[in-house]
Amino acid sequence: MSVMNRMQRPWILERTLDELKDELRADGFREYAARQVFQWLYHKNNQDVASWSNIARANREKLAGLYDWEARPLLEKQDDGRGTRKLLIGLADGLRIETVLIPEKDHFTFCLSSQAGCPLACAFCATGAMGFRRNLTAGEIATQVLTLKKEISDYAGKLNLVFMGMGEPLLNYNNLARALRIITDADGLNISPRHVTVSTAGILENLKKLEADFPQVKIAFSLNAPDPLLRAELMPISRRESLDSLLGYFREHKRRQRITFEYVLLRGVNDSPAQARQLAKRLHGIPAKVNLIPYNANPRLPFRRPAEIDVEKFRAVLLDMGMTVITRWSKGQEIRSACGQLAVFPGNT
Ligand code: SAH
Repeated sequence: MSVMNRMQRPWILERTLDELKDELRADGFREYAARQVFQWLYHKNNQDVASWSNIARANREKLAGLYDWEARPLLEKQDDGRGTRKLLIGLADGLRIETVLIPEKDHFTFCLSSQAGCPLACAFCATGAMGFRRNLTAGEIATQVLTLKKEISDYAGKLNLVFMGMGEPLLNYNNLARALRIITDADGLNISPRHVTVSTAGILENLKKLEADFPQVKIAFSLNAPDPLLRAELMPISRRESLDSLLGYFREHKRRQRITFEYVLLRGVNDSPAQARQLAKRLHGIPAKVNLIPYNANPRLPFRRPAEIDVEKFRAVLLDMGMTVITRWSKGQEIRSACGQLAVFPGNT
């Protein structure tokens, strides 16, 4: 198919069910056609319209002409030997993004990207170091889920989606929201919003929108420092989005689930017992879970992971002060698929 054609036709995965219904109705299709399309795309994970047996040939041909059906290819796959897999997907404009499959005890977690690169430039994160290319479209988010599902095609159990890959999801709110419609739609990927976590460095205005539009989606907040000054040093976004306002919002806005507070442990920077006490005090009054993530190394960055004993001490202080804490020793470090390690540099794959 020529580039011109592709540019003129919308990619089929860019449509929510409601949008597709409106378009297909306007094109003379029956009411149920859009749902059939969705079920082939997302339930059966089949994007080859010519093979859709329960749709009349004339309608298949018409659909084929209305949309761009080209897959976004899986360019590369890396496995850490224990089931964690990092996939590299090629986008229509030549950009590449990473998406990660993580096997857990009783389910799989998909770690999804929301942007190609990231504009936040957090000091400890490899994605920040590669810079920002652009927002991902809803279809580019949905195709990550479809591509990851193909990796485990015989599996029908629980999936957990976390927006903890490349990018800041709340700086791409409109596309994130449209992707969430496709992901949670019963005729779409049919994943409960309770099994979706959006992780954010804290963009308050869009966080409020997300919680209003998707009250069941879980929120994870990347805190990473117990005080605003250190946080602003590590996370430049913190100079624009006040930590106090964010924590105030978390304290006041009542919600069903606890907020997860992610805290990357950096040796000698934010890992002392005094800082653990400070952290517990800051979170006082917020229904919280703390997720400690010992730093995953990046060759281009100056930080180090704390010793295991110091991670334990930090955790013990929090437990002592009544907090719920889990330590996440990230999987897939060998293949650079762990938290904060996703990055595509020109020529590095
Ligand atoms: N921009 C969003 C989504 C990215 S999530 C956010 O900030 O939440 C990535 C998570 O991994 C964040 O909690 C981040 O703090 C953490 N992280 C980033 N770099 C890391 C590193 N090198 N080691 C461990 N965790 C890291």
